[in-house]
Amino acid sequence: MRLAGYSLGGEETVIAVPELNVCFDIGKCPKDVLPIDYVLLSHGHMDHAAGLAYYFSQRGFVGNSPGTVLLPTALVEPVHSLIRSWAMIEGHPSAANVVGMEDGDEFSLRRNLTAKAFAVNHGRPSLGFTVIEKRQKLKPEYSGAAANELVALKKQGIQIQHELAVPLISYLGDTAPCDFAARDFIRKSRVLIIECTFFEPDQVRRARAGRHLHVTDLKGILDPMECEQIVICHTSRRVSISAAKAITADHLPEDIMARTVFLMERSAERRRRRPPSLETT
Ligand SMILES: [Zn+2]
Ligand SMILES: [Zn+2]
Repeated sequence: MRLAGYSLGGEETVIAVPELNVCFDIGKCPKDVLPIDYVLLSHGHMDHAAGLAYYFSQRGFVGNSPGTVLLPTALVEPVHSLIRSWAMIEGHPSAANVVGMEDGDEFSLRRNLTAKAFAVNHGRPSLGFTVIEKRQKLKPEYSGAAANELVALKKQGIQIQHELAVPLISYLGDTAPCDFAARDFIRKSRVLIIECTFFEPDQVRRARAGRHLHVTDLKGILDPMECEQIVICHTSRRVSISAAKAITADHLPEDIMARTVFLMERSAERRRRRPPSLETT
């Protein structure tokens, strides 16, 4: 699974997962996300939602099918109103599928793949999303059976398979601390994308006021998580990615840190490695 995105707190957050055809939040809608059919919008803050009207309009312009946005139900009407306003400004309407979601709702993205919404703690209608793969697995009692036996059982109308839900990736959006691990599908997600907006010791109060995570919150949230990979996003311009990483390493046990990356650390490294003359040409 490949993630392609940009995320800085208060500025822009957009994280595409092309293999799953989903994009967590839309940011300012960089052109690379236009081919993606589903936007899972966590909340209405401008740094996460600004590009929504552009996304719908551009998809029509380049001949793509109308895009679909899943978002908190409270935002359905305001987003329709935004699209209507843009239709008046542009002089023609843009097709858009706008789907309201509540905590626990599931939406089918394609066969065997759903998006499940869950409540987060950001003080306004806000959701996180988990993309779940539904697999058909042979029931354990038939695991030793030969192929012809299984065919015979199937012909008799006996259900030899059961459905297995595999949570692939969870995105928490913007949030203050919350008992995310209590929900199986989040705790067992292969990949977890988590925000961390504040890293300096004197910023705990700011984190609380804005309902965001401070680096000191991470251990409590991540300790019980079984995720293979943790991706930190929504960092601040006040600290570089490498400084944020060093501070985080002081607050997380080694085994969690070994599974943790920062969303933009590779591009930050690339920028650092490039000779300065290339930066300006
Ligand atoms: Zn934000
Ligand atoms: Zn926010």
